[in-house]
Amino acid sequence: SSVTSANAVAVIGLGRFGQSLALELMKDGAEVLGIDVREDVVQALNGQLTHVVAANATNEQVLRQLSVSEFDRVVVAIGSDIESSILVTSLLLRFSVPQIWAKAVSDAHGLILEQLGIPHVVYPEKDMGRRVAHIVLGSMQDFI
Ligand code: ATP
Repeated sequence: SSVTSANAVAVIGLGRFGQSLALELMKDGAEVLGIDVREDVVQALNGQLTHVVAANATNEQVLRQLSVSEFDRVVVAIGSDIESSILVTSLLLRFSVPQIWAKAVSDAHGLILEQLGIPHVVYPEKDMGRRVAHIVLGSMQDFI
């Protein structure tokens, strides 16, 4: 969209996953808007992201005020609060955000996100387990 710059990303939920993601995006030159409902989490990241705001992302007006509705790329990094994850994701779909990534904490959660039409569902533990398996296999090939 014309309102946000081409390298802007909104990250909703700044737990271990969202924080690590947001900081890595910053390192690679992206403009990052981070949102978390917890004041302490937002305080801790203050100055480390382009913008970081304490807000409940399940509120449509809040997302509009923060112009999340105008972003081309949004990552929903809320996991264990599945209801919030689904509510936020559904709002982003209503805003027609072109690229949405969402974190799933279980296969059932991931299935719901996929059924909503999220093409990029991320399963951090499952995906990382698979990745480490390949690293272990790679180390074995050194000895074959
Ligand atoms: P992680 O594994 O990334 O640490 P988690 O599974 O332990 O995450 P989650 O429940 O996924 O914790 O929450 C990730 C972050 O999302 C938390 O910091 C939480 O405060 C935030 N969060 C949860 N609900 C909302 C919401 N409605 N609006 C904004 N932030 C939220």
